[in-house]
Amino acid sequence: MAGRPHNENLAIAKLAGDKTYEGSIHAACGTTTRYTSGGGCVHCARAKQTEMRDALAEAKRARETADGFLETAVDNRLTEIATGPKEPWE
Ligand SMILES: [Zn+2]
Repeated sequence: MAGRPHNENLAIAKLAGDKTYEGSIHAACGTTTRYTSGGGCVHCARAKQTEMRDALAEAKRARETADGFLETAVDNRLTEIATGPKEPWE
């Protein structure tokens, strides 16, 4: 490695138009594949992406459940309106 630039792989990847290259070991995960643009860790970026996707799916599920409750509440309210307000003496 003596005399070679540390990011020689990056320079080659850029020339070749590759999206990723083998760079320095990422301390957090121990992998070496990095994005040519920005130098971010591919492994961690994908892990984060999966995490985000799961979180979004979870949020979507929660929202749909909330919508279900809301629809039930609206249905109940509409039924209430249709049948008229209860008089206090009823
Ligand atoms: Zn990483």
